[in-house]
Amino acid sequence: MRYIGRFAPSPTGPLHLGSLVAAVGSYCDARAAGGQWLLRMEDIDPPRMMPGAADTILRQLEAYGFEWDGGVLWQSTRSEAYLAALEQLRAQGDVFWCCCSRAELARLGASAYPGLCRAFTSPRENAALRLRVPDGIQHFRDLVLGKQSENVREVVGDFVLRRRDGLFSYQLAVVVDDAAQGITRVVRGADLLDNTARQIVLQRLLGVPTPEYLHLPLAVHADGSKLSKQTHAGALPLPPAPDLLWLVLRQLGQEVAPGMPPLPAREILAWGIRHWQPQAIPWQPFLANGGG
Ligand code: GLU
Repeated sequence: MRYIGRFAPSPTGPLHLGSLVAAVGSYCDARAAGGQWLLRMEDIDPPRMMPGAADTILRQLEAYGFEWDGGVLWQSTRSEAYLAALEQLRAQGDVFWCCCSRAELARLGASAYPGLCRAFTSPRENAALRLRVPDGIQHFRDLVLGKQSENVREVVGDFVLRRRDGLFSYQLAVVVDDAAQGITRVVRGADLLDNTARQIVLQRLLGVPTPEYLHLPLAVHADGSKLSKQTHAGALPLPPAPDLLWLVLRQLGQEVAPGMPPLPAREILAWGIRHWQPQAIPWQPFLANGGG
């Protein structure tokens, strides 16, 4: 079967150990299957972006030996495609305009958006665009975590596709771009698992295929919190640290014997591809000693 995978970092900071897990896992899984590995820069949220981070990420990826197929897809160039998807959903009657503020919604105390503005099916000033989420349970099988199910309408409610400030949401952009790039398998960190059901709802309404999903174990701090740019996880060092690549392969359940030599990054990745055993990937998070 044709395999197209991807790595989709957000340039909110440099790559850290947690991002390296997603990069190595998606890369080895795609290459071991003879597939393509595409790179997409998810630069759609300027307020959260860090100046220079996208360049740093590209330099880090190159230094750590990753070779992507084709050019980088920059989400900041994709507005037309996102607008076309929104127009399709509007024509189908699947969106509405919502003026509820975060504070108003918080006062209501509902965990899921309670559908207050569902009647507003034509444009309003200063409004977010929400998806009218159909009732029902989404089932999918994660290749590591097994069967998953979620009633998106109950758990999240009608989620935002375009914010009041005009920015497109991650859910919209990721679904449109996974479809446009023909992604057949999404391999990413388990912190994104709870977005998957929302993305499948959106795929069905847009009439695009649902890829396979494989969520990788997260690197966590000693207190169990996720390693992230927000928790000041350290940037991946340059020049690349071979030990980190061996560590990540080991954390992904691969049989890396102790004392592997400090080979060039590209050779370590080539080893990872040659020995790749996706069924050995554990679901448990692992402690990122010294990673943060
Ligand atoms: N851009 C997202 C992140 O850096 C990843 C999105 C995805 O893989 O679906 O967390």
